[in-house]
Amino acid sequence: MKAILRSLGFEKHSNYVRDYFDNTNMKSSIYMSVVVIVLEIWMIIRLTLTIIRENLQSNLKHFFEKYYSNYGILLFMACVMLFCAVRYLKGKSKRRSVILITKWVFMITCIYFGIKVSLNDYAKGEQFLTFLTMELFALCLLTWRPFTAFIISGSSFLYFYSCIDKMVAINTGEVGATVATKINFFSMWLSTMMICIASYNRIRAQALKDENLHEINTYLSKLSVEDELTGIHNMFYFRNEAEKLLNYITTDKENIVFLFFDIENFKSYNEKYGFHAGNELLIKIAHMIDDAFKNSLVSRFSDDHFVVLTSYDGVQKIIGQLSGEIKKFQNEVHLELKCGAYRPHGEETDVSQACDRARFACNSIKKHYDRTWRLYDKSLEDKFHLKQYIVNNIDTAIANGYIKVYYQPIVLTENANICGLEALARWQDPNYGLLSPASFIEILEEYRQIYKLDMYIIESVCKDYRDSTDNHKPFAPVSLNFSRLDFELCDIVGYLCETVEKYNVPREFIEVEITESALTDQHEFLPNAIKKLNECGYNVWLDDFGSGYSSLNVLKDFHFDVLKIDMKFLTGFNNNEKTRPILENIVNLTKKLKMLSLTEGVETKEQFDFLCSIGCERAQGYLFSKPVPIEILREKIEKGELKMSDKYKN
Ligand code: C2E
Ligand code: CA
Ligand code: CA
Repeated sequence: MKAILRSLGFEKHSNYVRDYFDNTNMKSSIYMSVVVIVLEIWMIIRLTLTIIRENLQSNLKHFFEKYYSNYGILLFMACVMLFCAVRYLKGKSKRRSVILITKWVFMITCIYFGIKVSLNDYAKGEQFLTFLTMELFALCLLTWRPFTAFIISGSSFLYFYSCIDKMVAINTGEVGATVATKINFFSMWLSTMMICIASYNRIRAQALKDENLHEINTYLSKLSVEDELTGIHNMFYFRNEAEKLLNYITTDKENIVFLFFDIENFKSYNEKYGFHAGNELLIKIAHMIDDAFKNSLVSRFSDDHFVVLTSYDGVQKIIGQLSGEIKKFQNEVHLELKCGAYRPHGEETDVSQACDRARFACNSIKKHYDRTWRLYDKSLEDKFHLKQYIVNNIDTAIANGYIKVYYQPIVLTENANICGLEALARWQDPNYGLLSPASFIEILEEYRQIYKLDMYIIESVCKDYRDSTDNHKPFAPVSLNFSRLDFELCDIVGYLCETVEKYNVPREFIEVEITESALTDQHEFLPNAIKKLNECGYNVWLDDFGSGYSSLNVLKDFHFDVLKIDMKFLTGFNNNEKTRPILENIVNLTKKLKMLSLTEGVETKEQFDFLCSIGCERAQGYLFSKPVPIEILREKIEKGELKMSDKYKN
């Protein structure tokens, strides 16, 4: 029932469908009015020529009343319709009321004209073709809802029929329509109605289909410029628009600035309050940034990273205010806004590079709690180049042997003898000199290249073991630093097993250090990897204990053989009275959890004595030795500066 009512036009149209009908009607109106205009002009010319040829000028009043006036009215209406339809389709006027009135007036004029002319001619011989043509024009070319069409055609057919039913046919002299005419007339009306209904439903179906497509397209195009979570612009939109802008501004480029925002500790906020709360916070921050930089390009690149292109004047003040507002959101998690700024100059049009530099400036002030913003300058430029150099040259560095393993001894507190060595990477570069891990580990992690380095270190350590053993030189179990990403980017455990086998290294000579922060990311594969390492017979150590937020959880969820207490505990050894009891408690805890404790960063005899007194089993630090190449380590042992545990003397 509903479907029938719908197909008869008893339904509410959406704006899109309504506009679709209006559009279709305006297009049909153009065809109709052009045909009508041509026809009427032709009729007017033909009638005038007939009047002149047959010398009928004396009857001009009669012709005017009967023909010229009708032709004129229709011609005028067709011109008005044409004018309105063209304006509508060109988008110059979209006023519905105007086009509705014009359409109705035009339709009524057409039908009126059809009836009038047919009635004039009917007397001459049952002529109603003009009526029919006009009816078809007005009802079938234009699309009406079926019930509207029913009213229009019903009343016009009835009116026309009642008129001809009273008339006398000239050729036969009979009054009224014949039975055949009545039947023909009725079937004509029925066909007109059928065509109306069919045309309405065809166009309606098309309109609905188009509406769907339109909705999908709108959704997709919104997605392509809008960030789904926050509703502000996304990276693609930003890049496109920023590029246009950079190309457009030829002078005064120094006046614009790229800003890269990062919310420090956002990860911890997510961990503490959950993703939902994290997302809500991101939405708030996104709108705060958007509001703060009116008339600028504001976008979210990813996670908690926002990029803005704006004018340089007053930018520092806005960043200061934003930073203050963001601090208000923190309760237990310390949140801080960090902003890196880059001012393009000269011919620069590379948006990606500008964003990269702003991001680089932003990263350079991470963990500097007193700084909110940093402008990309010469010193950062040098670091930026180094970063590019590192990413581009890691393969060459490995192939050419620029990467070296340095060993730092780990000693037993009971006798200060070496019981282990930590393998630490160094990059001896022909251009940059000796690079410490601080300058390349993070970059390699960022570019997901770190596994190359760690695989190389595994192989180098195994080779050093083989060489020491074959040549009866001292060597101790080596602890390797694995990055969290190693487990993600390659089968590091598989590779370790293969290499150890290849160089015939006993498994107890290899230990794996996993830094605490790696375990707070809640990755599924890490627990599995730790399990696999244990199963293969390797000891796993927890590195940098106490440097992150979830130290104790990590101890609850995973098993480690050794706990490496982060060196930051020793930095306050002399002036912070809490350091000692904290260290003592950690050491006690490790004993209870059946782990060994190792304190890193031991630099003074006093620190070492304290560690001995609280029962910490192992220590590592400059007091014994800095990380050194294997040859130096051997020399130190030979000279007696360092003593190897009896177990590992070879
Ligand atoms: P880490 O694993 O915590 O290594 C200890 C760092 O502390 C080393 O820095 C070491 O030289 C330094 N250190 C040792 N004793 C003392 C001391 O008494 N005082 C002070 N101030 N520092 C001391 P390094 O060699 O620069 O390494 C830095 C970090 O780079 C390492 O931290 C480790 O996380 C990473 N790393 C080093 N080599 C590798 C590697 O081959 N692979 C991976 N994935 N990471 C590595
Ligand atoms: Ca380590
Ligand atoms: Ca460490």
